[in-house]
Amino acid sequence: MNDQNITWHNQKIGKQDRWLKNSHKSALVWITGLSASGKSTIANELERRLFQCHINTLILDGDNVRHGLSKDLGFTEKDRKENLRRVGEMAKLLVDAGILTIAAFISPYNEDRMMIRRLFHDGEFIEVFLKCDLSVCEARDPKGLYKKARAGEIKDFTGISAPYEQPEHPEIILETDRIPIDESIEIISSHLKNTGIILNGQYL
Ligand code: ADP
Repeated sequence: MNDQNITWHNQKIGKQDRWLKNSHKSALVWITGLSASGKSTIANELERRLFQCHINTLILDGDNVRHGLSKDLGFTEKDRKENLRRVGEMAKLLVDAGILTIAAFISPYNEDRMMIRRLFHDGEFIEVFLKCDLSVCEARDPKGLYKKARAGEIKDFTGISAPYEQPEHPEIILETDRIPIDESIEIISSHLKNTGIILNGQYL
């Protein structure tokens, strides 16, 4: 692409101004794990609790972006990478807009998650690994996808016919095959409080 004629415009209202207005900071909570490990469930419960406390949030969900932003992409390694590149850029805009953004994506490759981490300042990218045994995910199978993958009806299915690389240094590990949903939410919200993204008294 020829971008010689495109210049970057600095804007007058910055992220810090938005943080002051909102009384909380923004960040990207990146939830990764196998299908059915609980990403959407935890993202939605976390958002509900944050929203109740007047915190500006938005969820970017893997299934949802594939209906719009990435509807031209499939599930090969190349397409997954492009999907996550787009999502990363969109998440950056949301974080710049002062929104505490929650992303729920299988995101099976370390390199792709690192690519997104690099878009953010230290502390702004919070990688949450849902560590859930494949057998538990497969037993849950809320969308019947594992059944289809085992029958060979879905190609490149993470955990069955495509790899999942466990995060090397995630900020948070949640063993969602052992701990209840509430405890997962508590662990994430404690991290948000301890790192000053949300204020102690702001979150109940
Ligand atoms: P994903 O978004 O990772 O594909 P979903 O959130 O759609 O996963 O589905 C996970 C399913 O597992 C949900 O039906 C959820 O209620 C269930 N579940 C049972 N126990 C837990 C737990 N401890 N943590 C998260 N999800 C759980």
